[in-house]
Parts: sequence; C-alpha cells; structure tokens
Amino acid sequence: MLRTINTEDLIPIIANLCKDACYHLNDNVMNALENAYEKEESPYGKETLLLLLDNAKLASKEEMPVCHDTGMAVVMMEIGEQISWTGKPLEEAVNDGVRKGYTEGYLRKSVYLDPLNRVNSNDNTPCVLHTDIVPGDKVKITVMPKGGGSENMGTFKNLVPADGYEGVKKFILESVFNAGGKACPPIVVGVGIGGTMDKTTLIAKQALLRPIGVHNKNPFYENLEKELLDEINKSGIGPLGMGGRMTALDVHIEYYPCHITSLPVAVNLQCHSVRQASAEL
Ligand code: SF4
Repeated sequence: MLRTINTEDLIPIIANLCKDACYHLNDNVMNALENAYEKEESPYGKETLLLLLDNAKLASKEEMPVCHDTGMAVVMMEIGEQISWTGKPLEEAVNDGVRKGYTEGYLRKSVYLDPLNRVNSNDNTPCVLHTDIVPGDKVKITVMPKGGGSENMGTFKNLVPADGYEGVKKFILESVFNAGGKACPPIVVGVGIGGTMDKTTLIAKQALLRPIGVHNKNPFYENLEKELLDEINKSGIGPLGMGGRMTALDVHIEYYPCHITSLPVAVNLQCHSVRQASAEL
C-alpha cells in the first residue's frame, strides 16, 4: 500500500537536522574522542584532544557550531518504495530545509553557486542530495555537514587489478599521510573499493556514516580496516597534526562489485567534527 508524504513536511525536519548536526557530536563520536584521549601518549596530543572535547561539550551546551566551518550539507535519503510524494519537488523541499536550518541556526554560509566565478549563494544551498530506494514505507534522512578541510583531502584512483591488496593499502595510507594535519585529525577514514568512479566515491562517503567501532561484516575487509588503522596510528601525525598516536578514530571500508579490468579506490576523510544527524518518518 502506498503511503503519501507531503515534501513540505520535510522542511522543518531537515532544518533541525542541520542545526543538531552542527551543534552536537553524538555519543558514539564523543566516546571515541574520550577513548582517544585515554589512549594518547603524547602530551601535545593529549592536550589537543582535551581541547577538542571541551570545545564539543561547550558547543553542545550553548547550541553553537562545533566548528566555524559548518560545511556543505550532504543529505542522504533512504526512501521506501511504497512512498508517494505530494507537494513541491523533493530536491526543492530538501534545499528549503537546508536554507532554513543554516539561516535560523546562524551557521556559516559556505556554498558558492559557481566553482570558478565564486559567488556565494548566501544560504548554504544547494546541498548535495543522495537518494536510495529501499523496501518499505519509511523515509530515513541523514544530514552530514562536510567541512572543506577534510573533504578537500579526499582522493580517488583507478588502480589496476594487478595492484591488488598491497596496492590498495598503499594508496589508502598515502592518502592519509599526505593529508597529515590538514584534515583535522583524529579522522575517520571512509574507503570505497570497487564499483565505477561515481559509485566508489559514494560508498567511501557512505562508509563515514557507520558508527565508530563497528567493522565491516566481511572478515576480510574487517581485517584490512584493522591493519590500516594500526598503520595510520603509527604515523605520528596525531590530533590536529600536533604529534601523537591518535591520528584516526577508525577506518571504514565499503566495497562493491567491479569490472574485470578495474580496481577503483576512493578515500573520503572525516575530521574530528564527525557531524551527522538522522530522522525517520
Ligand atoms: S576539517 Fe573539520 S574541524 Fe577542520 S576546519 Fe573543517 S570542519 Fe572544522
């Protein structure tokens, strides 16, 4: 049976998600930062993590952005195939929600309408909207404000199949080491392996939505996640690049089938401001 939803009902929900995501790091992220503080051995690294934790707690208490860069809003929607929409076009309603949230929440407007002519839209729209059609009659919306510092350090490469396991590992590690402190560590490393160029980069971003501490269900990829995390945390980059062991909070890999001649890999980095908020209706 079809369930009908008016797209305009999404506007206040998305507005609140934008504000919530920018003000409050969720418990999973706060616990991961607390654990990193406990494990960090470098005095500078420890001091830096303490500052990051204090900053996040104050932002949440005062309902202020955790970081001045409140990002470009990435909105991921899982839409049940039994949903029928009424009202304005879906993408327009989603952007209305983003506009309302960024305006009401005094969140920095960081979106240029044209990447070369650099004209600010002044309301942080448009967002980047991804939709997935899933079974059922529910809609899940996740807003993920993505700051420029970590997003700019993302990488993609078409490896050749002969590069194999070691080649993939080398590319991911080089990406993280080249980013150094610029991605505002401790980071979460989102990795996409397989698919086509568009799919690889999308699953790398989706990998960032997995809670910290939860590994890939496939033991082969779980093992690769653990190996990479271990190597990354031996790099000495440390919190905000100040030196230390806690360069990454986690590595999340998603994979997808690919063409026999292909081995694409994408790395999408998420800074310590792991901002994401979800709602289901
Ligand atoms: S990378 Fe993250 S923490 Fe660093 S400035 Fe950008 S949004 Fe803020």
